[in-house]
Amino acid sequence: MKLSLIIPCYNEEECVEKFFEAASAVFEAQPYQTEYIFVDDGSEDNTLSLLKKLYVENAQVNLISFSRNFGKEAAMHAGLKAAKGDYICFIDADLQQRPELVAKMVELLEKHREYDCIAAFAKERKEDSSFTQFAKKRFYSIMTRVSGIEFVGGASDFRCFRRNVAEAILSLSEYHRFSKGLFAWVGFHTRYVPYEIQERNGGDSKWSLGKLFSYAFDGMVAFSTKPLRWPLYIGLGTTAFGIIYLLFYLLFNIIRSQRLSEAAILISLMFIFFGITLCALGVIGEYIGKIHIQVKHRPTYIASVCYQAKDREKYAAQLQKELEQEAEELKRLKIKRAKYKEMKRKQKVMEQLVAQQELEREAEEAEKEAEAVAAEEGKKQPKKVKAKKQKKEEKKQKPAPEEEDIYTTGPSAGFEDE
Ligand code: UDP
Ligand code: MG
Repeated sequence: MKLSLIIPCYNEEECVEKFFEAASAVFEAQPYQTEYIFVDDGSEDNTLSLLKKLYVENAQVNLISFSRNFGKEAAMHAGLKAAKGDYICFIDADLQQRPELVAKMVELLEKHREYDCIAAFAKERKEDSSFTQFAKKRFYSIMTRVSGIEFVGGASDFRCFRRNVAEAILSLSEYHRFSKGLFAWVGFHTRYVPYEIQERNGGDSKWSLGKLFSYAFDGMVAFSTKPLRWPLYIGLGTTAFGIIYLLFYLLFNIIRSQRLSEAAILISLMFIFFGITLCALGVIGEYIGKIHIQVKHRPTYIASVCYQAKDREKYAAQLQKELEQEAEELKRLKIKRAKYKEMKRKQKVMEQLVAQQELEREAEEAEKEAEAVAAEEGKKQPKKVKAKKQKKEEKKQKPAPEEEDIYTTGPSAGFEDE
């Protein structure tokens, strides 16, 4: 088994060596082979010389250097083309994303055959301003809506995936590449794991707000043709408004036999013709959208598996094993769920018991307090009052006279009570 690490580097002279050191410490301890693919994206500092040194000194290092800065997306594409591993991972050179997590992602992929890709997502970036955080969140929800494919907010390019996913991504030959969209478009089973973005190891981020905005805009244009429809919708609305306005105006003025204003008619006609022009643009946009999709030469579908009848014997045993594993996993999940339910039930009973005990304890305390107060009061009361109180108590405790007694004392007593 082999892992390919793709590391795009642009002006990272402060980071590349430390990155290699940290990554080597993690991957030397792993049972699999790791190849490093450093892609120098036209750095203007000492990055390339440092990478050349790493290449000379280490057998597992590959190096690609661009003739100029083509951008991170191009660097990732070049790395993907060169990768030979069964598992492939994109990771930044600045150690904001830890190699330890890559090892965990590989472990997850090894353990769970049902996942094809493990993507790391950061809940928030502390260094981002609240405006950037808000804009990023909105961007992903808008992208999900306009493109019809799901974009997970916070998911970065930091992801580890199987070779079949890499092949699918490579089959998309479009020029304007937007990796987050490409991964969302090709599909496959992706598991998202949270991660905490570390401090940059050195140097600065290469993304200004303007660059981020243009990247987001490129992404939107690359994955949606819906904005091309907007002139059509606006045009239809404007034309309808113009026609309704004109009709009502004519009707009212003819009924009331008033003179028609040329300006009003002209304005409504302007609305109608402006709307028609926009509609025409919208229709042209529809065709351009189709051409836009066609020139990308994206495949019409991506199959995750394809078993032919002639290969049945070859795959049957492996598939049987996979099916058994899945059934076992399902059983394990069911047991886990049942255990969880039982635990929750017990927890509820325990909570009720504790609450009851608490109530009893409180009642006991209140009783004790009342007794203490009574004792205190008893001490303070003078003898006369005490005696009076005792008499009152005795009177209270005396049993009520029986029915027979009432009659024997005469009817007047009974009437008195009434
Ligand atoms: N990068 C690149 N080309 C560029 C910009 C960035 O190869 O034009 C690399 C950069 O060297 C780093 C990774 O992409 O390894 C992420 O860049 P950065 O850390 O600046 O982005 P941030 O973490 O701020 O989003
Ligand atoms: Mg970074």
